[in-house]
Amino acid sequence: MTGKAATSKRTKGVKANLRGAKSKAQKAKVAGGKSGAKLRTDPSRVAAILAKLDEAYPEASCELIHEHPFQLLISTILSAQCTDVRVNEVAKMLYPKYSTPEKFAYAAPTELEQDIRPTGFFRNKTKSIMGASKKIVEEFGGRVPQTMEELLTLPGVARKTANVVLGSGFGIAAGVVVDTHVIRLSNRLDLTHNTDPKKIEQDLMAILPVDKWIVFSHQLIWHGRRVCVARKPRCAECNLESLCRAKDKTYSTHY
Ligand code: SF4
Repeated sequence: MTGKAATSKRTKGVKANLRGAKSKAQKAKVAGGKSGAKLRTDPSRVAAILAKLDEAYPEASCELIHEHPFQLLISTILSAQCTDVRVNEVAKMLYPKYSTPEKFAYAAPTELEQDIRPTGFFRNKTKSIMGASKKIVEEFGGRVPQTMEELLTLPGVARKTANVVLGSGFGIAAGVVVDTHVIRLSNRLDLTHNTDPKKIEQDLMAILPVDKWIVFSHQLIWHGRRVCVARKPRCAECNLESLCRAKDKTYSTHY
């Protein structure tokens, strides 16, 4: 094959790939994502969902008991793979004993491990807690930083924990907390069809008013714990039912 013929073949191949990519992207757009279901994020529907959540959970807030942002940071680290109820039980003993960031930072690791053992993954959590506390003491003057960028430098702190601390500790809306309930419910409600928390957070930030970023997560988490549970959601008791087209609904007025 001559150089000219090879170039022409390559060009045709690239054009064909582009056509294919465009057509796949168009199909995905029409279908609303990988799941094949349609995203339903028009502003009036999103507003209706927010109104229903306000109606059902006007008082929704963080269920981790804390007196200040530092305790909230520690409790949020402890809450990984653990219930808030259990974390709150452990916290009753923990915070009187470790009353300052210094006490966590320079604790005896084996003792702290035993103190937080009921929350599970206690060795890793001890490393995160001591590492984060040390950095707070040594680099942030003993105070929890108030920016996403700084919080993400603390050991064991990813976006979810940082968003919890900023939102519920400081009242700063830097993003949307995406936990297991928010992942499940925002998909059931067709507000996203992603499963990666970072992408879900971006999807939600794009469709929610900023002043709803903090409370929306609390409301979804409350709804996920009380009504829209993982297995057999209680759709007959759900005030969002008329707006929901989830495939795994247990009751529907749509059919
Ligand atoms: S109708 Fe069912 S699946 Fe939909 S949000 Fe309500 S409880 Fe969840």
